[in-house]
Amino acid sequence: MISIDNWKKEKSNASLEILTLNYPELALFIAGKWRKTTSKIPVINPATEEEIGELPCVAESDLDDALESATAGFWTWSRTAPRERADIIMRAAKLMRERQEEIAYSITLEHGKPLKQARLEVIRGAEFFEWDAGEALRTYGRIIPTASGTKFAVHHQAIGVVAAFSPWNFPMSQPARKIAGALASGCSIILKAAEETPAGAFHIAKAFHDAGLPPGVFNLVFGNPAQISEYIIPKDQVRLVAFTGSTLVGRKLTALAAEYDTNVLMELGGHAPVVVCEDTDVSKAAELGAIRKMRNAGQVCTSPTRFFVHQDVFDSYGAQFVKRAAQTIVGNGLEANTEMGPLANSRRVSNLEELVEDARTKGAIIATGGNKKGKRGYFFEPTVLMNVPEEAMIMKVEPFGPIAVINLVTSLGHAIQQANAVQYGLAGYAFTNRADYIDRLIDEMEVGNLSINTLEASMPETPFGGVKSSGYGREGGTEGLENYLVVKNVWHSINPV
Ligand code: NAD
Repeated sequence: MISIDNWKKEKSNASLEILTLNYPELALFIAGKWRKTTSKIPVINPATEEEIGELPCVAESDLDDALESATAGFWTWSRTAPRERADIIMRAAKLMRERQEEIAYSITLEHGKPLKQARLEVIRGAEFFEWDAGEALRTYGRIIPTASGTKFAVHHQAIGVVAAFSPWNFPMSQPARKIAGALASGCSIILKAAEETPAGAFHIAKAFHDAGLPPGVFNLVFGNPAQISEYIIPKDQVRLVAFTGSTLVGRKLTALAAEYDTNVLMELGGHAPVVVCEDTDVSKAAELGAIRKMRNAGQVCTSPTRFFVHQDVFDSYGAQFVKRAAQTIVGNGLEANTEMGPLANSRRVSNLEELVEDARTKGAIIATGGNKKGKRGYFFEPTVLMNVPEEAMIMKVEPFGPIAVINLVTSLGHAIQQANAVQYGLAGYAFTNRADYIDRLIDEMEVGNLSINTLEASMPETPFGGVKSSGYGREGGTEGLENYLVVKNVWHSINPV
């Protein structure tokens, strides 16, 4: 396979590579043990459409075992000293860093993203664990002053068993966020990782197994998402449902959880606006915009998508953006110079084709791209649509792909009005150096994460999450463990009764 040869050439230590070339033989991880299943579905490489592995699909009896082991695991883990919990999490994170090449390679095979980006994702995943391990030591309560003879003390305690669902766009860092928050707080977790991209979560389970995590604290399952969520969410043992994915599915799971009074943590869709003001450095902002838009083939909930550009700089910004977007090198993620891989599955290709066609018929200009690319693999051309009318579907529906919309605005107020004109409120971006503009953007942009003069949206140490239909709760930052903890107030009357 030419792609593997290229990958080998890139590395210097050939003997190590031989060990790491294979896609892993997947298994469920329940009660601290690996488990095979009779039911399996293929895992497909989206760049070649070849089968690269087999996804073991969980049965109800496996889920019962996972629930039982997570319940027992919670009892042990929530009573384990935070320092000890943090040590195990840090050991697992270290193993993930050491196994960076092996993990990145399997991510590129199953997801298609460039290997360089997969490597960075492995490190980002490890960082999520490292940050939350630190936070495990700081789940402080407080003492409330009162009369002598009485003490009021607020304790933060782990909520219980977490049922978590992670998506396919970041096979390692998405599951990492949820596992890190749960384990650092003292919760046990049953994670259903994405069926398209199971290897990231599988490698995390391996790292925790090897780091000495007690059995049952982290259980990993795969299979039909709706069947799994409908089976486990109603169970008494489950105290929190943590989901990342589309707003539509998030709503369904929230409604189901509400029937059983179960808490939720929801990281849902986004449709990020980018406000480009007239005072910005147009060349730099346009180049950055075009590069960042195509990262992960646009399959990022914070992906910059709706660019609202001031009329004074619109022509220049648009031309430079389109030129750079069209130059994006699209290909197999194992090839060294690839900037953008395929979409994750064929469903995404048809969704994007539909959005482009709808925009075209409603009068948008297709400045570059707009079509499926090549005959093999789920590739889509880097696409820029300009002057897109408000009634086009893409102005409301998150494309989750390599499509940018560039529209002209006449003022900052006009840009903010357009930016807020969607149900989503996850990330938003603006390019300006004017203090009065920045002040207004902070006050008026309806987003959970606002970035000025950058298209980065979150770090392990910053709280990440949405407003409006983009979700509830935060991951990361000092806020990251709040969803996994419950508050207990203790009223202690000191005098014996
Ligand atoms: P989808 O909503 O069908 O699936 C997204 C994820 O949710 C998948 O991993 C899937 O396994 C899971 N899922 C689907 N139905 C479920 C159910 N009933 N119970 C439990 N889990 C379920 O969407 P898709 O077509 O795979 O992806 C496209 C959309 O997903 C995008 O429009 C985007 O909004 C969303 N998405 C968001 C993120 C994010 O980071 N917020 C990541 C991936 C996908």
